[in-house]
Amino acid sequence: MLSTTTVHRCPHCSGKRLQKNGHAEHGAQRAKCVDCQRTFVLSPQGPRYDQKFKDQVVSAYQDRMSIRGITRTFGVCYQTVMVWVGGKK
Ligand SMILES: [Zn+2]
Repeated sequence: MLSTTTVHRCPHCSGKRLQKNGHAEHGAQRAKCVDCQRTFVLSPQGPRYDQKFKDQVVSAYQDRMSIRGITRTFGVCYQTVMVWVGGKK
């Protein structure tokens, strides 16, 4: 049987000890990092992304987060991220 376990990591310190921390307005799962105490959004649960979510992704990118890290953390596909960050340069 196939089971995929998604290991989420903290985008700030790459820590793996995360706690669920409620939900963001757009329905995404929020999480809090046990190590650095920061909160961030795990994979979004809907296919649509609103402007606020987009801004979070773009600012994560501007905060020197890698594209791969962003795709894992936000659950956005690579090309989508490229379009978003590319359009705002
Ligand atoms: Zn952390």
